[in-house]
Amino acid sequence: MSAKVHRKFSTIPRESLWWRAKVTTDDVQWVRKHLGRSLDGIKEFRVVPSSSGFTAGPLFHSWNRRVVFVENETAPHVQVPIGERYDYRRDYENAKRKSDPYLSPHGLFRKLENGYHMHALQFMQQFGSLNWKLAAPVSADWVSLSDFWDRHARFVGVSMLWEARSDDQLKQAWQWIYQRRDQINRVGPAPFGYVPLWNEDSYSPPPQPLPWEREEGVESEASDFFADCRILRECSLEVIQNELNMHTADCRQIWMMTRIGNASEDVAFRPTRGFSSLWGAIWDLLGQDTSGFTHSWRECLECGRLFYPKDRRSACCTTEHQSLWSKRKWAREHRRPKFLSKPPISLRPKKGADR
Ligand SMILES: [Zn+2]
Repeated sequence: MSAKVHRKFSTIPRESLWWRAKVTTDDVQWVRKHLGRSLDGIKEFRVVPSSSGFTAGPLFHSWNRRVVFVENETAPHVQVPIGERYDYRRDYENAKRKSDPYLSPHGLFRKLENGYHMHALQFMQQFGSLNWKLAAPVSADWVSLSDFWDRHARFVGVSMLWEARSDDQLKQAWQWIYQRRDQINRVGPAPFGYVPLWNEDSYSPPPQPLPWEREEGVESEASDFFADCRILRECSLEVIQNELNMHTADCRQIWMMTRIGNASEDVAFRPTRGFSSLWGAIWDLLGQDTSGFTHSWRECLECGRLFYPKDRRSACCTTEHQSLWSKRKWAREHRRPKFLSKPPISLRPKKGADR
């Protein structure tokens, strides 16, 4: 499609439309200072019973009224104004073009530190709430950060399984999930790894039990469940598939009209996928990454940053890091044997704070 034609149809198509939050840098700093992590801010604000409802409505002027804690939850609810529209598929394409996953909603979501509320605000500033209640005319919505972080843990867990699918980090990925299994299972519609059935809203347990559900489990050390790599790998792939299917269930197929050529009046219709939540869209984008037509993101072996490799062999995010890493690798391989008895210098960088 030529640039001219593209401009003519530049309204954001329904298939990729979402709304950012209208959040300023001052808002982000306010949240950092007053809400911190998890329940840090609870003494400063109202706490209501868990039966209380939240209705979308006009934005409170003061931040003090825009924060409410709910009994038995792990984070506050915050009122967030709905901002401008954007095209998440365009952001995804841009992220791939620039080899930078953090420019796409699912990539930035992957990077956040679980429970650090400032990160949630920064994410929403860029890509909006995971679930806006978009009943017009509404200018602001209440966002449950407790739910936000539960979903985050679930997404990161599955993403880690995909990233580690063919290497020795798979065991660590499962341990990460095991430690957060209660949080992860708070996210509906079914427990982690369940199989979505053809009938809407019905699920069955996975044919292979999760690693810690195998019978010897329960009493023994968590690490024992993760000893058999072959089983772990099979189980991981199955769980990834089930989770992709489960969380993209709000997908609706829509037909989009495209003009054929510049001068022609003729059109073609093509099927595409639309989502009623950014949550669904994020899983769709992760699914796109796993679909085999592109290279999935991977972690730079030098700095730990995620990047989209230009080439299957790329191990680092930039050419500078690639050459630094190659030099270290060379040094490691040519080290004299007497040094082998020393603990090896860790080549794997410190992981992001989200692990
Ligand atoms: Zn790097």
